[in-house]
Amino acid sequence: MSTSPNILLIYTGGTIGMIKDFETGALIAFDFDELLLNIPELKQLDCTISTLSFKEPIDSSDMNVDMWKNLGDIINSNYENYDGFVVLHGSDTMSYTASAVSFMFENLAKPIIFTGSQLPIGDLRTDAKENLITAVQIAALREKGKPVITEVGLYFEYKLLRANRTTKINAEHFEAFQSLNYPSLIESGVHLKVNKAFLRKVNRRKKMVYHTHFDNSIVIIKMFPGINEDILRRIFSIDTIKGIILETYGSGNTTTKKWFTGIIFDAIKRGIPVVNVTQCAGGSVEMGKYSTSVALKKAGVISGKDITTEAAVAKLMYLLGENLPLKVLKTIYETSLRGEMLEN
Ligand code: ASP
Repeated sequence: MSTSPNILLIYTGGTIGMIKDFETGALIAFDFDELLLNIPELKQLDCTISTLSFKEPIDSSDMNVDMWKNLGDIINSNYENYDGFVVLHGSDTMSYTASAVSFMFENLAKPIIFTGSQLPIGDLRTDAKENLITAVQIAALREKGKPVITEVGLYFEYKLLRANRTTKINAEHFEAFQSLNYPSLIESGVHLKVNKAFLRKVNRRKKMVYHTHFDNSIVIIKMFPGINEDILRRIFSIDTIKGIILETYGSGNTTTKKWFTGIIFDAIKRGIPVVNVTQCAGGSVEMGKYSTSVALKKAGVISGKDITTEAAVAKLMYLLGENLPLKVLKTIYETSLRGEMLEN
């Protein structure tokens, strides 16, 4: 009987498997089997790889909550049969999907590693091979018979990052992702250097719980100088909005104009959670630090602390999907559920 780990490789689409469309010259997703033919090296790895592909691979700009669920269902229904999962995904929205998947799997005890590439696998200078091969190696990594990674990770350009801490920051460089508020989990050089202190620990006595319901009735409002009162009032009065993410300045600051704080106050009074997330790539929201955030704190705005906007979106959709009273949602939102934000 083989003791090498069983890895399920799931292809959702993205540049990694794209080719140039003959007529338009634009990149389009192509057949998964062809993608695998381009990496015969996978056969040399010390693990057994099975593959599954979305019926219609997509550019990740077309990703949506139904596809998050499709992906989650694939992993959930194969959870007991595999030791680890690698998800090939377009880089554009990879941080959103990977964050969502981190919320889907409570008490995750196996690795789910997202990867992709900036250049198609068929390209001579592609980054796809290294990304894919090392992502599979990481998913198969074991110590004393147990998986080393027991969380959702994102592997790109020699680094494994906690997925719900990542943001795509570059459309040109191979190093496309950044995690400014949390250190790398693994660095890939001559050896794979595992930063053990920063890995998520698993409680093996707790069973994995799978969550699927995301409510996407939300909006992101990014603060900018000169933000328009009339437009904002109209957005806030849309009756189907169930949650608002405010992308604020610095450590959680906004204009102190009465009309603005009034709108926020009213929304929360109507039972709509408003989450404060900073526009800065690094650092944390600290409401009350400056006078420009005192009113928000008083109004009951939820602190997103040092969460990324990508994880904030996924977390808000996830908690809205759980149908919680506003007070409970606020408390849970401000708690780190999957290592996506500061512990306290
Ligand atoms: N547009 C592509 C996508 O996100 C970019 C990539 O894969 O890197 O699907």
